[in-house]
Formats: sequence, structure tokens, C-alpha cells
Amino acid sequence: MTTELLFREDAYAKSANARVVSFGDRGIELDRTVFYPMGGGQAGDTGVLVRANGERITIADTRKGDSADTVLHIPAAGMPQLEPGEAVTLELDWARRYALMRLHTALHVMSCVVVAPVTGGNIAPEKARLDFDIDMSLLDAAKIEAETNAIIGRAIATETVWISDEELDARPELVKTMSVQPPRGSGRVRLLRIPGVDLQPCGGTHVRNIAEIGAIRVLKIRSEGKRNRRVEIALS
Ligand SMILES: [Zn+2]
Repeated sequence: MTTELLFREDAYAKSANARVVSFGDRGIELDRTVFYPMGGGQAGDTGVLVRANGERITIADTRKGDSADTVLHIPAAGMPQLEPGEAVTLELDWARRYALMRLHTALHVMSCVVVAPVTGGNIAPEKARLDFDIDMSLLDAAKIEAETNAIIGRAIATETVWISDEELDARPELVKTMSVQPPRGSGRVRLLRIPGVDLQPCGGTHVRNIAEIGAIRVLKIRSEGKRNRRVEIALS
């Protein structure tokens, strides 16, 4: 059974009602969720499932299940078991997720400031990074910071668009990330568009307007190998 992914249509959904599909060693499956499972470099969500009797089940992480569009909510140690069919209310740790959304969208902007193939990336609540296949001498922290913040200052609304697998195959230039190919097979691929700035396949959660990022600062730039020049940022 697939999970209805509410965050895909509305990244700002902070709570929802759902039913327990299964409860296993690996986690809790629900019929629908606002919790984003770790993927595309973005950390999995945390939060709480509230039972009808008010009992609160802490969710320590969220991961993808075995099949496409299934999500496993991983309870913290020592949480009580849930029954299949049971109704629960989901409450996302919104402050943490919103930081992830702002940093994630900031990486989209930064990937247009540093023009080089992306070889890796990661988004945690307190910092995010992209790795580029580029010469170290071309990476200037102050310049990256100033140019990224200048684009953020243009306060552009973001858009989610879907294209077919065939359209994506016909436009390979859309895929900047060498290490992560967008998921195919479902017939369509989700893209994030920042009009005039960026367009690339991405299944993650983003802010509605890049102004919500505020501003970023470059924490450090270092070499993690010939093809991995790492630029790490934080919200300022
Ligand atoms: Zn994204």
C-alpha cells in the first residue's frame, strides 16, 4: 500500500489525521503523512503521532519504505505499539522542517551561483552543503555568499512543475546532480522552478518564496576529493 504524500502538494502542512496501516520493527506505516522521508539529501522529519486517547508517540526519524511512495515513521525507543486501523493525528516538528525547507531552497539558489556539476549534497536543520566538481581556486566564500543573498533578495516565488520521463530524457541539461538521478518509472518527474534562476528535478520540500530563506552565510569551503569541493552554508 502506498502512503498519500501530503507534503508533495503542500510543504506547509504541519498536521493531518491518518490511520495506521502497519506497525513493525522498522517503523509505522500510515495511509497518509505530512512527514518527509529522508531523501535527495534532505533529512527525514521528526514530530509526534497523537493517539485518540491523547497518548503521544515521538517520531525520531522518517524513512522511505521498500516500495515507491511508502513512508516509515520511526518511533523513539520505548514508545507503545500502535494498532493497525487506529486513527492518529500527525504533528510535525515544524521549526525543524521549516529550517530544512529554507536551507534546501537556498541550495537551489547557490547551485546557480556556483556553475559546476553537483557531485553531492546534504541538508540538516542547522547546515547544508553541496559538493561541486570544480577547481578550488574558483570558489570564493564571500562572493558565493553575496551573490546567493542577492538572488534571495529578489524575492521570487517558487513553482512545482511536473514533466514526463520522456520530456526529462529530452532535456538532460536539467539534471545538475551527477550522483543522484531523479526517480523514474512513475511516468512523471517533479521539478522545482525558481523562475529566471533555476529549474531542476527535485522531490524535496521548498519555501513558497525564496525571500523566506532570509539570508545565508558560507560556513566553510574545503576539498573532500578532486571532484568534491564542498561548500557548507547556514541560515544567517
Ligand atoms: Zn529541492
